[in-house]
Amino acid sequence: MSKKPADRGLCFCCQKPLTSATVGGDKFTKEHYIPQWLFKRHGLRQQTMDLPSKAEIAYGHLWVPCCEACNGQLNTEIEERARVLITSVPPPWSEEDRQIMKRWLAKVYLGVRVRATTLPLDQKDPTSPTIADQREIDEAVLLRMVVQGLVTVPHSSLFVYECDPNDGDGFDFFSSDVANLVLVRSGSVGLACMVLDGQLIETGMTPAHPLLSEATLGPLNAVSFRMVAAYAMAACAAADVSHDAIYVSGTDGQPRPLSVRFTPHWTSGPPAAQVREMAMAMAETVAADVQWSDFNPPQ
Ligand SMILES: [Zn+2]
Repeated sequence: MSKKPADRGLCFCCQKPLTSATVGGDKFTKEHYIPQWLFKRHGLRQQTMDLPSKAEIAYGHLWVPCCEACNGQLNTEIEERARVLITSVPPPWSEEDRQIMKRWLAKVYLGVRVRATTLPLDQKDPTSPTIADQREIDEAVLLRMVVQGLVTVPHSSLFVYECDPNDGDGFDFFSSDVANLVLVRSGSVGLACMVLDGQLIETGMTPAHPLLSEATLGPLNAVSFRMVAAYAMAACAAADVSHDAIYVSGTDGQPRPLSVRFTPHWTSGPPAAQVREMAMAMAETVAADVQWSDFNPPQ
């Protein structure tokens, strides 16, 4: 009698069921959505990041199940190119490279959400629901299509900032499903991506856009990069692309649940002053010790 193969979950990308017995392209692999080359670059493997449950998780444990075929495809099509862009191509990047980067950040974001379905919201409560619901993942069809490279129309906004590589430990990571937002700072490159906003924010469809301008900000220190996150979240709220839960993490970020849901009814978006106000409120969530005076955005 043969032993029943162990269930290894679904491929986070194509949702193919994986077992310990599958072979070939269906073979189970681990996809580290915060990639190993970033671990190496910033010595992250032993470090931990904060979860909304106030628990910590080692960067080395941040992986999701992935079939071998998807893993290979993602490596060739986006991972290696993202690595080269971040480590050795000074921005501004070509439109093609920006599209690669958006797809890569969408992959990171999908990884975060899928992993969150296995993590309890309250570490101390055995009956606690998980941070993300499996149904949310099942319904994230468009997001998976973006990651698979099947979406060719503009789907997400990206802002690329020059950062001070010597401030902090040169690395930061933050994601929020309030705003479908993912931020990565590595060395002198800071990335803020509003996943699946229809590229609304990047194309200036909200009044927050001037405050997120790539050209007038930078080089950003660690705190200012976090403030960009607050602005980005406010911009998402103003564009009503927000959701009502939060996932905050980072080497210095304090996780705080945010129950505010902005449902603005402005016909042409809120005035910039109100976006600034929202950004200040959100800064509390993004980084506990942010001082508004540390940040000097264009007015
Ligand atoms: Zn797959």
